[in-house]
Parts: sequence; C-alpha cells; structure tokens
Amino acid sequence: MAKVSDIYGSMVFNEHTMQERLPKATYKQLMRTIKEGVPLDIDVANVVAHAMKEWAIEKGATHYTHWFQPLTGITSEKHDGFIDPTDDGRAIMTFSGKELIQGEPDASSFPSGGLRATFEARGYTAWDPTSYAFIKDEVLCIPTAFCSYTGEALDKKTPLLRSMRAIEDQAHRVLELFGDDAATRVTTTLGAEQEYFLISEKDYENRLDLVLTGRTLFGYPPCKGQELEEHYFGAIRPTVNNFMKELDDELWKLGVSAKTKHNEVAPAQHELAPIFAETNRAIDENLLTMEEMKLLASHYGLVCLQHEKPFESINGSGKHNNWSISAGGKNLLDPGENPIENLRFLVFLTGVIQAVDEYQELLRMSVASAGNDHRLGANEAPPAIVSIFLGDELGAVVDALVDDHDYTSAERVAMDLGVDVLPNFLKDNTDRNRTSPFAFTGNKFEFRMPGSAQNLSDSNMILNTAMAKSLKEFADTMEAVPAEQFEAAAIDYIKRTLTDHQRIIFNGDGYSDEWPLEAARRGLANNRTTADALPCLVAQKSIDLFEEFGVLSETEVRSRYEVKLEKYNKIMNIEIRTMKRLVRRDYLPAINNYAAEVARNIFQVRGVMADADLSPQEARLRQLTEGAARVNVLLEKLHELHYASLEITDQQERANMNAHEIIPVMDDLRAAVDAMEIIVAHEHWPVPTYNEILFYA
Ligand code: ADP
Ligand code: MG
Repeated sequence: MAKVSDIYGSMVFNEHTMQERLPKATYKQLMRTIKEGVPLDIDVANVVAHAMKEWAIEKGATHYTHWFQPLTGITSEKHDGFIDPTDDGRAIMTFSGKELIQGEPDASSFPSGGLRATFEARGYTAWDPTSYAFIKDEVLCIPTAFCSYTGEALDKKTPLLRSMRAIEDQAHRVLELFGDDAATRVTTTLGAEQEYFLISEKDYENRLDLVLTGRTLFGYPPCKGQELEEHYFGAIRPTVNNFMKELDDELWKLGVSAKTKHNEVAPAQHELAPIFAETNRAIDENLLTMEEMKLLASHYGLVCLQHEKPFESINGSGKHNNWSISAGGKNLLDPGENPIENLRFLVFLTGVIQAVDEYQELLRMSVASAGNDHRLGANEAPPAIVSIFLGDELGAVVDALVDDHDYTSAERVAMDLGVDVLPNFLKDNTDRNRTSPFAFTGNKFEFRMPGSAQNLSDSNMILNTAMAKSLKEFADTMEAVPAEQFEAAAIDYIKRTLTDHQRIIFNGDGYSDEWPLEAARRGLANNRTTADALPCLVAQKSIDLFEEFGVLSETEVRSRYEVKLEKYNKIMNIEIRTMKRLVRRDYLPAINNYAAEVARNIFQVRGVMADADLSPQEARLRQLTEGAARVNVLLEKLHELHYASLEITDQQERANMNAHEIIPVMDDLRAAVDAMEIIVAHEHWPVPTYNEILFYA
C-alpha cells in the first residue's frame, strides 16, 4: 500500500501543487487573492485554469464542476466535460479562466425562499479561491459560492465567508489595541466531529421508513441497548474496520485530515474527527467526509445513516463544532504566557460569553431541524437551552472578576488579574462536562448542539457575526481610552460585561430536571422545537446584527427563514405519509393476520380437546384485537390532523401544528404499533427489528 505521506492531498490542488505548477508571478498573485482577498484578474485566472486542467487530466479527470452548497445544505454539482470538438473531428481538452471563475447553473430547482422568481432562474457560481479545488470520481471540483443574478446569496458558503471577514475586521481593531501587528491574518477555526451509524444494506432495504425519512418511525427498544457501555471505544467490527481504512485513505487523498475514529456509545454508532482547519475549508471537508462515508459504506454491504436520530431509545448522532479564532496561527483562546497575553485572552473569552448570551436564540435556531428535534433535550444530547460551561478553574477566574476579589486557584496560584499569569494548567483542568451545549475545552469552545446531518455554515456564520459584534463594542469603547489607561479600562470593561452576561454560564448537569426551571429563572430561552426556534431568525435584533456586519441583508434573512420553515414542513409531511402508509399496508395487516392465526389455533385445539385451557391464547387474542383497534383510532386521528395541516397556508402556523399537535399523535401511534411488535410472532412481523438491525454480525 502507498505511504500515507505520498497519497495525502494527492487529489487536491493545494498550495504545494500551485507552487509546483504555476509560474512564479501567477503563484504570487493567486496567493495575494487567497491570503489578502485581492480580486483575481482574468489573465491570472486563465493561467491558473490551464495549470489546474493539466494537473486534473494527469490525475484522470475528464470533467469539471462548480461544487457549491445551496440552501438544502448538501452539496451540488453539475459536471461539464473539458472536451472541445475541433473542426476536423477530433477533440481537445479546454478549460478557461472564465470557466474557472464563474459558472451559470440553471438553478431554478434549488430552494431560494422566494428570492429568485422562476423567470429569473439564473444563478451564478463564483470560485472561492480560499478553498482548494480537488478531484473526486474523475471530476475536478471547484468550490464555489452561489448567488442570484442580483447578487443575493443563495447558498450556505457566501454568508459564512462574509462573517469570517467581519470577525477578522473587528479582531484587527482589538489586536491593534494590544499592540499586535494589524496585518496578521485572523481566521476562525473549526474541527467538526462527525457521528454516524452503519447498518447492513439488507436491513436498510427492508425498512421503508429508513429509506424515505432517514430514521425509523417505528421500532421497540432492543433487548440490549447501550447500558453495558461495551460499544464505546470497543473493538471495531472487521467489516467496519475495513470501511474505516478505505475512508481514511480516500479522505487523505482529498486532503481531509481524518484523525480519530472510534466506536460511539450506541450500538452500530461511530465517530470520525478531523484535525481542525479554517472554517470554510473545514466545512467543505466535512461535507466531503459525509459524502465519502455514504459512498464507501456501499462497498461493504453497509449503509451509513447520518440522521440525528435514526433509532429511538438509544443515542442519536451529533456533530460537535469545535470553534476558535486565531491570529497569524496563534490561538486567541489559549491563555497566554504573560500578563498582556492573558488580558487579551480574557477579552476574547468575554467576547464569546457576551456573544453567546446575547444571541443564544440565534445559535439555537442554527441547529433547528426536524431531525435534531428528536435529539436535543433527550438524555444524551444537550438541551435546547443554550448555556456555557467554563469548568472550575476558569469559572473561578470569572467569579473573581465579577465579585472583585482575588483569585486563588485549586492549585493555590494566587492571581492578581491583569498582572499575573493565568495558570497554564487550565487546559488540562477543564473537565469534560458532556451535558453542556457550549463548553470551553482548554483552548477552544465546543458547540455540541449541531446535529449529524447539518451543514455547519449557519452555526459558524452566527458565532462569527455575534463575536464580531462583541469585539466591535470593545474596540469602540477602548479606542477612546488613552493608551496608558488601556489595561485598567480593559479589566473594567471585562468585569462589566461578564457581570451583564453571567447568567449564561452554567457548570451543572444540563440533563437534570431542575435546569430548565433554573434557566427560566435566569431568563434564558428554551425553544424546544424547530417551529419555536425559527422565528428568532427574522426578529429585528437578528436582522440588525446581520445587516450591521454585511453578512446577510434583510431580504436574504427572510428568504432563509422561508426555506427552513418549508423544509421542516416538507419533512414532516413525508414522515406522516410514510407512517400512515406503513401502518395501513404493513403493520395492521400483520397484526390482523397473526390475530387470525391465534383464533384458528384456538378453534382447532378446542375441536380436538374441548376442555383444554385456552385462556392464555384467548388473552393474547384480545391483546391483539384491542391493540389493532387502538392503532386504527390513532391512524385516523393522524390522518385527520394531517389533512387539516395541509389546509394551512401560513408556513409558520403549519410548522406550529406539526410540532405541537401532530408529533404527539405520531408518538402515540408509534407506541401503539411498537406494543404489538413484541407480541406478534416473529415470522409475521414485516420488517427487521432493532435487535436485528443494531446487532448485525
Ligand atoms: P474530544 O473533544 O473528542 O476530546 P479533542 O479535544 O482532541 O477531542 O478535539 C476535538 C476536535 O477539536 C478535533 O477535531 C480537533 O482538531 C478540534 N480542535 C482542536 N483545536 C482546535 C482549535 N483551536 N480550533 C478549532 N478546533 C480545534
Ligand atoms: Mg468533542
């Protein structure tokens, strides 16, 4: 097998390849575009396109595509051949700078939330030179942003890039106050831990609910769940191991730094964590990872489930969003070695606390989806309430600042804030509170609410913009302060801000029954469902934030809200229809057939042996007929509500009905069917059960 160092990044047109393949002057100019955002001129683009094409053809590529992320969140691509026929019947391979920089997919079928009337269906894609091009399945993929003809963003990437620009601008102002070099590049970093399930293809094909909705709409808990805790970090099944090896190989070729892989808590659940990268690249890489997982699973007779809650009663899947901000490669959320670095650390830390408290509902909104609703607040994932975990050490630092007393750590390192050095043991001392939605983990924050199926752009776009706002406020205040008073004024500012936003800090158990009550007392939002969480996106406060930093215009915000609402309602509609179909065509007939078989048995045995004790069979028969009747009643109830919901034209109202009236009935119907699953004879049950699906060989 090839050495990892040989294959790593071999399918990526990265800096190394650019340097190798481009004329010096072109390389320099392209680097200025990538690193400093200087616009690319067409002559340079032509040279880059040519080199890229030659490189891609050597690697076996025949087509190219503008690879983009429409508002569905998943990636889209339309392949164009490099091929260009000549007059004499041959063909040459061409690829121009214009084709590299801009594309015009007919985009009328992508969701736009009303931004793009169908007669104006044209949208265009524009190369994002800060994300590397790569080759996948003989196609040169060029990461692009996707906009309408009038310039509105129609994708997930554009606002993310705008937010990275916003946070960089404001961070520069803050760093300048600290005497740091204003030209340093400031970027946000992201490490996305991807959880997923692998099950056998055969079981998958026999579960229409999984095929159509990505999750099981029915299914009694397996006899053995995750209680033995033997799966977590346990030995990996040979088939799964082979899958993971091929996955690593393929990802490495694509320059995705897949680093850690292990079994997760739930049976058949696994995780892959990459090494963090700049946010926009990390998101591209995460989307590629998700795609490769699905594709490669099929090589092993497996299916990769990326839904947030494929199975009730066992853990669902999340995608932990490890977030930080760095300047010139130095992590700004790393406590420093000297007093001024520590003060800077505290300024950035305070900025995050303020941002998360101020825009907690937007962050909650960014993870809202039909799938994630089944996960958030279940006893495995953080609740729908946003709070921050700092850990004992840092928590004590913040308390000391707020209460204005000297800080004494557990290790007895006294610290007079702003003068002494923040203890370096902070990093290892932050304990692993798994119930917190937003936890400080030594030198970064881990946002744990995002679901496994999600595109992380929205969450990071909001985090970045909210943080830009905190930094702006700090810079606005401090730029007016004379330099010699800066330190004292900064400490004062930190104290004030922490005092104002202290309520968001919670170091306790997020799964406890008391926490929602305590959170309500603190005035923290608890938007339990997607229907409750989405309206905050179009609140004036949110629109003001996005407009202030040029991240989204009001029109763009409103269109995104529409798209999210519609998606939620469409998913609900599909789930309801699948549920009704399965009950009518599979489950009720199965229950009734088995009941008829029991009745026949009773009848036959009685014919032979008039005094036989048949009360157990009769009791079973009654359970079956009563169970079927209950299933029927709930099916009709769901049917009525479903039709009533389709009459509602206002999407928010329809979402409210789905979330608050229909889902409880779906839960009841499921419970009624599941109660039958465990008494109907095995051979009569029409689908594989949790026992079979989750414990395959
Ligand atoms: P765990 O949370 O599972 O214990 P780690 O703390 O080692 O694992 O890291 C989890 C993820 O956080 C990894 O993807 C890692 O690359 C990422 N990470 C580490 N440092 C940073 C950083 N400064 N910015 C963003 N992500 C980071
Ligand atoms: Mg983690």
